[in-house]
Amino acid sequence: MFKFLSGAPIHDPIGRRPAAGEQLEVKTTTCYMCACRCGIRVHLRDGEIRYIDGNPAHPINKGVICAKGSSGIMKQLSPARLTQPLLRKAGSERGAGEFETISWERAFAILEERLARIRATDPKQFALFTGRDQMQALTGLFARQFGTPNYAAHGGFCSVNMAAGMIYSIGGSFWEFGGPDLERAKLFVMLGTAEDHHSNPMKMALARFKRDGGRFISVNPVRTGYSAIADEWIPIKPGTDGALLMALLHELIRTGRVDRPFLKRFTNAPQLVVLDEGEREGLFAFEPAGGPAPDGRHPHNKLVWDHASNRAMAAYPEGIAEGADPALEGHFTLADGTRVAPAFQLLIDRVRDCTPTWASAITGIPAERIALLAQELGDTALRQAFELPIAWTDAWGKRHETTQARPVAFHAMRGLAAHSNGFQTVRALAVLMSVLGTIDAPGGFRHKAPYPRHIVPNYRAFNSPEQLQPNTPLNAAPLGFPASPDELAILPDGTPMRIDHAFSWEYPLAAHGMMHNVLANAARGDPYRIDTLLLFMANMAWNSSMDPLVSREMLTRRDERGEYMIPFLAVCDSFQSETVAFADLVLPDTTYLERHDVMSMLDRPISEFDGPVDSVRVPVVAPPPGCKPFQEVLVELASRLKLPAFTTAQGGRKFSGYQDFIVNFQAQPGVGFLMGWRGEDGTESLRGAPNPKQWEMYTANNCVFQYHLPEDMQYMRNWNRAYLDFAQAKGWRQKNDPVQLAIYSDCLQSFRLAAQGKTGGRQPPEHLRDRIATYFDPLPFWYAPLEDAATDRSAYPLNAVTQRPMAMYHSWDSQNAWLRQIHSHNYLHVHPATAQIAGIADGAWAWVESQWGRVRCRVRHSEAVEPGTVWTWNAIGKARGAWRLADDADESQQGFLLNHLISSELPMPGVPRSRISNSDPVTGQAGWYDVRLRLRPAAADEPEETFPQMAAVPAAPGTRARAPGWLAYFAGRSAR
Ligand code: SF4
Repeated sequence: MFKFLSGAPIHDPIGRRPAAGEQLEVKTTTCYMCACRCGIRVHLRDGEIRYIDGNPAHPINKGVICAKGSSGIMKQLSPARLTQPLLRKAGSERGAGEFETISWERAFAILEERLARIRATDPKQFALFTGRDQMQALTGLFARQFGTPNYAAHGGFCSVNMAAGMIYSIGGSFWEFGGPDLERAKLFVMLGTAEDHHSNPMKMALARFKRDGGRFISVNPVRTGYSAIADEWIPIKPGTDGALLMALLHELIRTGRVDRPFLKRFTNAPQLVVLDEGEREGLFAFEPAGGPAPDGRHPHNKLVWDHASNRAMAAYPEGIAEGADPALEGHFTLADGTRVAPAFQLLIDRVRDCTPTWASAITGIPAERIALLAQELGDTALRQAFELPIAWTDAWGKRHETTQARPVAFHAMRGLAAHSNGFQTVRALAVLMSVLGTIDAPGGFRHKAPYPRHIVPNYRAFNSPEQLQPNTPLNAAPLGFPASPDELAILPDGTPMRIDHAFSWEYPLAAHGMMHNVLANAARGDPYRIDTLLLFMANMAWNSSMDPLVSREMLTRRDERGEYMIPFLAVCDSFQSETVAFADLVLPDTTYLERHDVMSMLDRPISEFDGPVDSVRVPVVAPPPGCKPFQEVLVELASRLKLPAFTTAQGGRKFSGYQDFIVNFQAQPGVGFLMGWRGEDGTESLRGAPNPKQWEMYTANNCVFQYHLPEDMQYMRNWNRAYLDFAQAKGWRQKNDPVQLAIYSDCLQSFRLAAQGKTGGRQPPEHLRDRIATYFDPLPFWYAPLEDAATDRSAYPLNAVTQRPMAMYHSWDSQNAWLRQIHSHNYLHVHPATAQIAGIADGAWAWVESQWGRVRCRVRHSEAVEPGTVWTWNAIGKARGAWRLADDADESQQGFLLNHLISSELPMPGVPRSRISNSDPVTGQAGWYDVRLRLRPAAADEPEETFPQMAAVPAAPGTRARAPGWLAYFAGRSAR
């Protein structure tokens, strides 16, 4: 009992004393049973993992662990483990899952020969797409050095709307980039979030917040996960959050509950927008002497209208000088006759008709509740505000003796993002947070280093067709943030440069790429054919595709000569997922307990509000002899292919392997993958020379490095002089200029002007002009998800969403014996009133149909769901035979995938027989939650199994029929 409550390591929950000669060890590393990256302690007995618990000394989870984290031990024992490289048997069909085992040397030789040929002829024929990995700085570097723009990770089908919508508005976003300051908030509003990426820290923060008397409101169609402990659940119809947010803005502005001093000094709300028609229409008026026309990257030369002197003046520094009084409302005329208005006036005009009554009809939330919520938000932010005694100096030299707290915090995730209207919905949230003054303020939203970024970030995506040359690296990273049509990745005739069409006129701000477009486009050869597709940790033949049956057909589609349209498919994974059967070459990966890995400031660190944090994984056990970390595979391939960053001036190999690469690679002088223990002797941090003992020092320090910023650099970092200078000096920012919040986006307007034919530069193709002109609105707005226009809503009246359960992360642990005891199949959760109308009893089998497909599944009545919505857990359902589950396993017989009902493409409005990705028209984010459904009971004589069913594939060589062991605890004894 007391042992459980103490901080002392427990090697075995039953507490048996070690037998004579038994060796007990505790090794620290970083969990990867989900993306949260908690610190863990792995307890070993004679080298065998016996137990995993949370590391109390780790800043992220402080010893807390979840069901997934403690079940990592069973991942090691999974029968589905791939243990040797595999090659599709000659003459066998792709998808049949018939393989021969080969050596790693042969696997490398196959890839080296193929990739060298592609690189020497047409590098874009190689495509590298990865799933939920945490090493995009390395995979992106590999693609860039190889010379292919065809690279992305999973963000396009996950939450790019959340990232891009916020970054283009406030310079940061949620989770890795920032989050709610629940330590000082009094009111917390969570939208569209069930189980989060920031899992344990969110649970810990919520527990503290509630104990301290904070009020927690959850806005969600479903009351699960965090919402279960909310003080109030506000059910909302999926895809309508933007309407709620616009109505809240309406009410806050109508009742004067906005932070006017904040808007005037720290946002572009007072800056003057040109109203006259023409090529400057809707862009900011600017002071030519202050530099080129503003485009997001030249933001500091705009004008404001000063009430005090009744004239236009430079926004900075004149407009914020003592005595100046920039107008937020009104219409004005500049000296040259140009008609202008402050951006805030345009926002007022925009939300004028967005009344609570209007929003109520869309969202299903009573108008009175919306009005009351606005009042609550405004009153808490403005009337319950307080100041911290922390002095700081802003970017224009003004000393602020205190730091203003705004104790209203928000958090949002895929519920807002995974819709085709998600970008503008997230923009609406960012603007709402901005008018309340909550950005990087105590009690509000707080950034995490290296954020905030510039608006627009100084990272252009690769967009130079002339740089696509044999044996030549790209001159820019494949992914980035376009600021104007000039930065799109298109050919002179407007054709997309990338296989996924990201950064084309179809999805101009596709900052994370569009993995969900790759199979369809590659299978059509649109805009060109590729040769080799390398997938890492991406289950594209199942739960990572919107319509898995279509994806499986695309993976096997042949051309008129009988050749596969995707000639070579290499898959790297640790387990026999559904996608493995389709591979031509299988590369068996390691688990997170068997490899070195970094959570880097160059990529996705684990920073906290008060400063940057990075961390590593180190092996606690050796991998099976036939497995190799994908990181090592990439460094090996890069070295064999002599990619310049991996090759010495003499043409030799620069890095002996991944560990060597991590220590010695420098993105800038002194800036490497890891910021801790730098300098030759490890005495420097953040920036410094490579340290040959850096891995040892991380290992000796709980695998984590944390840097606490001084207090005067912990807030208001968009404008904090000391922080901006510091961040630039440490290589986190290219410039040290302030990041004004974009209430109004001139970047979006530049695309709209092109679509309207009002500017002389690049123009979208005719069939996309209306689309760009409509959705690239410089102010947020709500529109119905695009799928609605393609759907007979009376025939398909229900919305549907999926959620990630707390006990499993996507499909990762369907093979985990402990976690399968929590979930081995899923239900469709339906409100009792809805189920009654459909005539479906609790627990009964039913058909769920969309216009794209149908699924037979079991229904569970639940009052924790909005009556017009049905929902289920994602990725619990499995294809028969995958993951080495028995053919009659619950996962394939009772479990189901909602994905079968979702189409990856929609009809292109106005273009007969044409289709376009089912994605947000701004960012390309997959519209997972836009599908509409209907329900009917299954017939009594139908089989009690889910539909559709897949033909089982053979077990991959090297996998096992049964787990090599079963670790179980019984009262008083342990057994294996
Ligand atoms: S929240 Fe995620 S990273 Fe943390 S212990 Fe659980 S599974 Fe591991």
